Amino acid sequence: MTSHQTIRKSRLAIHNGTPALIATENERQLFHWPIVTDEDVQAVAAVMRSGQMSGTELTKQFEAEYAAWQGSRYALATCNGTAGLLAAMWACGVGAGDEIICPSITYWASAAQALTLGATVNFAEIDPITLCIDPDDIEHRIGPKTKAIVVVNYAGHPADYDRIQPIARKHGVKVIEDNSHAHGSMYKGRMCGTLGDIAAASLMGAKSFAIGEGGIITTDDPTLYERCVAFGHYERTGVASNYNPVDQQVHDEALLKFKGLPLGATKHRLNQMCSAMGRVQLRHYPARIAEIQKAINRFWSLLEGVPGLRPHRIDEPDSTMGGWYHARGLYVPEELGGLSIDRFCEAVQAEGVPMCRPGLNAPLHAYAFFHDADIFNHGRPTALAFGQRDVRQSAGALPISEGLAQRVMGIPWFKHDVPERIEQYAAAFRKVAEYAHEL
Ligand SMILES: *Cc1c(COP(=O)(O)O)cnc(C)c1O
Repeated sequence: MTSHQTIRKSRLAIHNGTPALIATENERQLFHWPIVTDEDVQAVAAVMRSGQMSGTELTKQFEAEYAAWQGSRYALATCNGTAGLLAAMWACGVGAGDEIICPSITYWASAAQALTLGATVNFAEIDPITLCIDPDDIEHRIGPKTKAIVVVNYAGHPADYDRIQPIARKHGVKVIEDNSHAHGSMYKGRMCGTLGDIAAASLMGAKSFAIGEGGIITTDDPTLYERCVAFGHYERTGVASNYNPVDQQVHDEALLKFKGLPLGATKHRLNQMCSAMGRVQLRHYPARIAEIQKAINRFWSLLEGVPGLRPHRIDEPDSTMGGWYHARGLYVPEELGGLSIDRFCEAVQAEGVPMCRPGLNAPLHAYAFFHDADIFNHGRPTALAFGQRDVRQSAGALPISEGLAQRVMGIPWFKHDVPERIEQYAAAFRKVAEYAHEL
């Protein structure tokens, strides 16, 4: 460094300036999740003491309460979200030789199960503002074998169902909501999880609604519900067994004939310690996510008009980001002289915000799994082995999805609305945007 440069010292922490934010001792409390109290601990301990770890009584109570809260007719708990989505796909008729459509930017368990059913995945583009499936990139992908569109409410943001549903209806294709990021998000007055024909959500320990490991399927359609029960649940199909009484009537004779053996040859039952925690979490969830929404909306209000930054949130009446899972911000490098997101985030981190990291889920369409995996030992890729159309797409096919890692970054996932702390976090982002020319 020349002496001239030393005199014009940057204020940025990355250039040895004073950081915008000094973490306090209680900093972790701002972000800690899930919030677990004695109420959760006692509920879980009570199940352990009762010995009913593997029954279904508490789980059915959890299901009824979750369904009532969300506004769905049926809820069926599962051992994880991956299992719930698999059952939902099967319930919608996805089978050998079929296709589903799924956004390329999501966790792989939105789509991978299609291969287990002998189907393949046609990946669609992302809308760069909502980070959900682009409604304009769906219809041309529908073919005679398309059975379902998996719609992900990404990072808490509801997808645009008012545009997606008419396309699905027109072609007789089911809409499966992957609601793993958006428990409690509202879309124009309706809750996410009620917007497709069926929804499945992960409830694993890092999600916004977190109970350890678990998942939940919700639907208003009795046939889809029964099919999910029949696919992954012993002893819930109206057939008594050695272990459980008949507890639920399945009406479809074709399903009854198998006498309660799960047609997926898999077991999706949720353990009751998680169900007990879920019941407690549910009682507090609306208040807790309201607080998260207040905090993150405050953060974005403080950054209004700052060049290079845009909130990732829904701008519609009666719509919310739920628990704001995987909180993201949109980055517009053109407004900061083309500064790379990596450099921007590095500078914000130096100001004291470690969660400001570039990126989001990697696009799935070029994953080797969806191209080459031979799950059934056919000696050729499962994506084609059941006579599917070849809808595989290589790198370069979905440029918006592929470019998003340069335009999306992590922001603090505040769990508590503490104005003086949130102001400091916002100040760190504002400072780096202001001095971006020095980077
Ligand atoms: C977490 C997640 C899943 C899978 O859920 P598990 O409970 O981990 O099996 C599916 N889809 C999305 C979008 C997820 O984030």
